[in-house]
Amino acid sequence: AKAQGKNQFVIHTSDLSDEMISESVLEIELRNALENDEFVLHYQPQIHTVSKELIGFEALIRWQHPRLGMLEPGRFIRLAEENGLITQIGEWVINEACLQNKKWQHAGMTPVKISVNLSTQQFLTRNLISYVEEVLDRTALNPKYLVVEITENMAMEYEYSIYVLKELKKLGIGISIDDFGTGYSSLNYLKNFPIDYIKIDKSFVSELMNDENDAIIVVATITLAHNLHKEVIAEGVETQEQLEFLKKHNCDIIQGYFFSKPLSACEIEKVYLLH
Ligand code: C2E
Ligand code: CA
Ligand code: CA
Ligand code: CA
Repeated sequence: AKAQGKNQFVIHTSDLSDEMISESVLEIELRNALENDEFVLHYQPQIHTVSKELIGFEALIRWQHPRLGMLEPGRFIRLAEENGLITQIGEWVINEACLQNKKWQHAGMTPVKISVNLSTQQFLTRNLISYVEEVLDRTALNPKYLVVEITENMAMEYEYSIYVLKELKKLGIGISIDDFGTGYSSLNYLKNFPIDYIKIDKSFVSELMNDENDAIIVVATITLAHNLHKEVIAEGVETQEQLEFLKKHNCDIIQGYFFSKPLSACEIEKVYLLH
C-alpha cells in the first residue's frame, strides 16, 4: 500500500496472495470507504407482535466494496474497531439513519423509530452526546424516532456509562440493550439505567423450540423486563412456531427473517411507502 496524500491509499493487489488480500488490504481500503461513500444502511422491520404494526427499523451497516461486492458487518466491524475508524463510521450511521428517517416522514410514511448500533468506542467518545444532538437539530428529526442499541458490556463496565445514558435520555431518544443475556450480566444496571427496550439475542430465539433452557431464559427475560417497565424485542425470529411462542409469552416486538430480512432503503420504500 502506498500513501497518496491525505488518507488516500492505492493497493497493488497483483503483488499479494489471496490470503494476504483478505484482512490487511481490507483494513487499508476501509480507510477510504467513508470518503468514497461506500457504506450503506439496510433496514430490518420491527413489528408489534400482536397488532402486526410496524414499530421501526434497525439500521444495519453494509460495505458496498468496489471489488468484493456487498460486505456484511461481520467482515469489517472488528477491523474498524481495531484501527479506531469505528467512531467515524458510527457517526456516519447515526447521520444517515436520521436523514433517511426524516426523508421517509417527508414522503408520507407513518413515522417509525430507527435503531442504530453503537460500538463501545463510540459510546465512550466524549462528543457522542453533542454529535447526536447536532444531528437531531440539523435533520429536525423528532428524537422519539431515534433509538440507540448498546450492549450490556458497555452499560456495565464503566462508571461513565450511566452519565452518557442519562444525557442521551435527556435528548429524548430511546435506549435499547442489545444481545441481552450474552454479555456480563449484572442485573443491577437494569434498575439504575434509563433503558427503554431489552433485545433478546437471536442465539436464544433460534433454539427456543428445541432447548428447554433457552425457552426458560426467554420467558424469564420477558417477565423481568415487563416488571421493570421495559419493552421486549426478540431478534432472529425465523419461524411461525417461534413467533407463536413469543406472542404467547407477551414479547412486545418481533424482528427477524420470518417477517423480513434487512432491506435497502429503496426496497423499504416499495413495501412501506404507500402512496
Ligand atoms: P446485531 O445488532 O445483533 O444485529 C442482528 C443481526 O442478525 C444482523 O446481522 C441481522 O441481519 C441478523 N438477523 C436478523 N434477523 C435474523 C434472523 O431471523 N435470522 C438470522 N440468522 N439472523 C438475523 P448483520 O446485519 O450481519 O449485523 C451483525 C452485527 O454487526 C450486528 O448484530 C451488530 O452487532 C453489528 N452491526 C451492524 N450494523 C452496525 C453499525 O452500524 N454499527 C456497529 N457498531 N455495529 C453494527
Ligand atoms: Ca443490534
Ligand atoms: Ca449487537
Ligand atoms: Ca444479536
